[in-house]
Amino acid sequence: VSFASLGLAEPLLRALSDAGYTTPTPIQAKAIPLVLSGGDLLAGAQTGTGKTAGFTLPVLHLLQQKPAQNKAGQPRCLILTPTRELAAQVEESVKTYGKYLPFKSMVIFGGVGINPQIDRLRKSLDILVATPGRLLDHAGQKTIDLSAVEILVLDEADRMLDMGFIHDIKKVLALLPKQRQNLLFSATFSDEIKELADRLLHNPGFVEV
Ligand code: AMP
Repeated sequence: VSFASLGLAEPLLRALSDAGYTTPTPIQAKAIPLVLSGGDLLAGAQTGTGKTAGFTLPVLHLLQQKPAQNKAGQPRCLILTPTRELAAQVEESVKTYGKYLPFKSMVIFGGVGINPQIDRLRKSLDILVATPGRLLDHAGQKTIDLSAVEILVLDEADRMLDMGFIHDIKKVLALLPKQRQNLLFSATFSDEIKELADRLLHNPGFVEV
């Protein structure tokens, strides 16, 4: 299997070649075609498996395929992560793989000043990576508009639940358009994760590595 045979667009293939990636990892080979098909996905994968590229690449592909309807400051993709470190890392990946595409990304997490984030949110934005608490602070202050989100990714969903984010996640879900694609990545599948998956995902494809 090659990245080209998975159907990824040429600007993504060029960025992958720059990064020195020659072959998709198993989670990438399985997840990328499922995400490209437009359906929801439930994925079981640990850190280190290449899961980040497994959702970032097809998300970027889908966004470049579909004309944008969003206005400045309205993200088309929302990626939720449990920690600021992971959020920053995922946004780096978005920038790396998306370097030949015109999309703008931003990362939002707590523990830092909110005003620079508010300034940035006024500008063009396509992909938002965020931790749930600070995202809700922005939503409460109406400094963020999630009404144009087409794709939602929950990364390390099990860790988010372990950290007590379930209520925050539910509040975020209520702010999103009903019609959207949902991707849930988790290293483990507790009853709580299964319940969240049942609530969130519609006829999901399932991949596990
Ligand atoms: P992740 O599991 O998403 O945290 O990725 C683990 C590491 O593998 C990261 O440092 C990636 O840059 C790297 N990586 C992801 N996909 C590939 C690939 N197809 N080939 C080589 N390295 C990769």
